Amino acid sequence: MRNRQRQSSREASLSRRAALGMAAAGAAGLTTLPAVSQAAATGARTVDVVIVGAGFAGLTAARQLRAAGRSVVVLEADDRVGGRTKAGTVAGETVDLGGQWVGPAQTRLLALAKEFGVATYPQYDKGQNLIDIAGHRAAYEGETPALDPAAMGEFAEVIGKIETLSAATSMPRPWEGAAAAEQDAQTIESWLLLNAKSPAVRSAIRLLVRAVFSAETSQISLLYFLAYASAGGGFSALIATRGGAQDSLFDGGVWQLAARMAKDLGAAVVLNAKVESIAQDGTGVTVTTNTGAWRGRYGVVTAPPALASRIDYTPALPARRDGLTQRMPLGCVIKTHIAYSRPFWREQGLTGLVLSDRTEFGPWFDHSPRHGTTGSLVGFFDGGPAQRWADQPPEARRDRVLKDIAQYFGDAALSPIDYVEEVWTRTPLHRGGYVSVPGPGVLTAFGPALLEPVGRIHWAGTETAEAWAGYIDGAVRSGERVAEVVGALL
Ligand SMILES: Cc1cc2nc3c(=O)[nH]c(=O)nc-3n(C[C@H](O)[C@H](O)[C@H](O)COP(=O)(O)OP(=O)(O)OC[C@H]3O[C@@H](n4cnc5c(N)ncnc54)[C@H](O)[C@@H]3O)c2cc1C
Repeated sequence: MRNRQRQSSREASLSRRAALGMAAAGAAGLTTLPAVSQAAATGARTVDVVIVGAGFAGLTAARQLRAAGRSVVVLEADDRVGGRTKAGTVAGETVDLGGQWVGPAQTRLLALAKEFGVATYPQYDKGQNLIDIAGHRAAYEGETPALDPAAMGEFAEVIGKIETLSAATSMPRPWEGAAAAEQDAQTIESWLLLNAKSPAVRSAIRLLVRAVFSAETSQISLLYFLAYASAGGGFSALIATRGGAQDSLFDGGVWQLAARMAKDLGAAVVLNAKVESIAQDGTGVTVTTNTGAWRGRYGVVTAPPALASRIDYTPALPARRDGLTQRMPLGCVIKTHIAYSRPFWREQGLTGLVLSDRTEFGPWFDHSPRHGTTGSLVGFFDGGPAQRWADQPPEARRDRVLKDIAQYFGDAALSPIDYVEEVWTRTPLHRGGYVSVPGPGVLTAFGPALLEPVGRIHWAGTETAEAWAGYIDGAVRSGERVAEVVGALL
C-alpha cells in the first residue's frame, strides 16, 4: 500500500513536471518537446539569433538586431550575399543580374541606399515605347499601353476593376476578407476570361502579369494577385516606369547594398553554410549546416518557402506551415543583358521598351550606362517562355533573344558586343524568381502560416512583407519587422 502511494506521488510529480514542460513548450508555440538538449548542441557556437539567408531580408534583420546589442550569425548557402540580387559584368560595366529597379514608394530600400551613399537615376524613357499585341503594332509615349483603339476602353475598365478589387483586399491578412474564398478559388486567367472580351485586352493583361510575376495568369491565385498589387499601391504602380516599380536604377547596381551590409556585419556572415536542419527545444534552436552548428535563442528563416521546405525541422513543422511551403513555387525567369557599341534605338526615337505577344523574349528596356557611348538592353524570359527556354543551349537562347529584338529594332540588334544572362530558374539555391506564386486555394488554407512563428523559429523574406511583397523593398521591410519581433522576445 505504502509502495503504491510512493509510486503514485512520483507519478504525480512526473506529470506535474511534464505539465510544466508542456506549458513552457506551449508558450514557445510548441505542442511537443523534442529530445534535443543543449548537450546535443555541444560544439555549436552560440548567439542570440541565428538567421538563415543573406539576402536583403536576412542582412537587414541581422544589422537591426546587432544595433540593438544582440549577437547574430547569418548563415548563407551560397558563396556570395545578395540572394535574388547579384552583380554581373557586361561590356565592362557592372550590372544587376537579379533585382535592379526601385520606385519612389519603396522608401525602406531608398533609405538604405541613402545611408550607404549609393545614388539612383531614372530609367531611360525618352521617346516612344513599342507595342505589338493581338496583331496591332504601335508606338506610344507614357505609361498606358496603346492597344488597338477599339480595345482601349475595355482595357481601362479592366485595369479599373483590378484596382478597385485590390484596394478592397483585406491587408495584411488577405485570406480574411469577405471575398477571399471566392477570389482564392479563381486564377487571374479565369477572372480575365469573365471580365475581358477583347483578345487584345486579354493578351495585354497576360503579358503584364507575366512581367510582374514571371508566371502565367493561369498559375496565380486571383486573391494573391490582388493582395500583391495592394501591397505595392495598385497594379498600375507595379507596371509603371515613371513613378512606379521600374522608376529608377542604382548607380553601380543594387547588389552593392547587400555587399555593404555584409561588410558591416563582418564575421557574423558565414558563406558556403547551407542550413540542413533546425532543431528546437524550450530554450533555443540548433541550426546545423554542412560546415558546423550554431545555437541561438531564436532562429529566423528568410529563404522563400520553396527553399525553406528543404530544411529538416525537429520537431516537424505544423501541417499548415509544411503545406504552405509545398504550395508556393517560385516564378520562372531568365534575365539577359545585351550590350551594343551604341544605343542605336535611341536614334530611332525609341525608349527601348517593347511589349510584344509575338516574341518569346521580353519585355526589354534600355539599360545603357549613364556615362560613355555604349548602349545596352536588359530583358527577360518570363513565365512560360522561361520554362521553355531554361533547358535550351545558351547559344539557342541568345539567337532567339537577338532575333526577337531585331524584329523591332532592325538588324543592328543582331551584332551585340557583349551578352550576359542569368538563368534563375536553373539555380538550385534560388529555384527561380522574382517571387513565390501560389495558385488557387493556397492563401485561404495556408496563408496564416507565412508569418506565424513556429516555436522559436520566425519567418521573414520578401514573401512575408506587408508592403512591396516580392520586391527588394519588401525584403528590407520583412527584415526590419522580424528584428523588432524577435528583439522584443530576447
Ligand atoms: C531576375 C530578377 C529580377 C528582379 N527584379 C527586381 C527589381 O527590379 N526590383 C525589385 O525590387 N525586386 C526585384 N526582384 C525581386 C527581388 O530580388 C527579391 O524580392 C529580393 O531580393 C528577395 O530578398 P530576400 O532576402 O527576401 O530573399 P532572397 O534574396 O532569396 O534571400 C534568401 C537567401 O537564402 C539563402 N538560402 C536559401 N536556402 C538556404 C539554406 N538552406 N541555408 C542557407 N541559406 C539559404 C539563399 O541562397 C538566399 O541568399 C527580382 C528578382 C529576380 C530573380
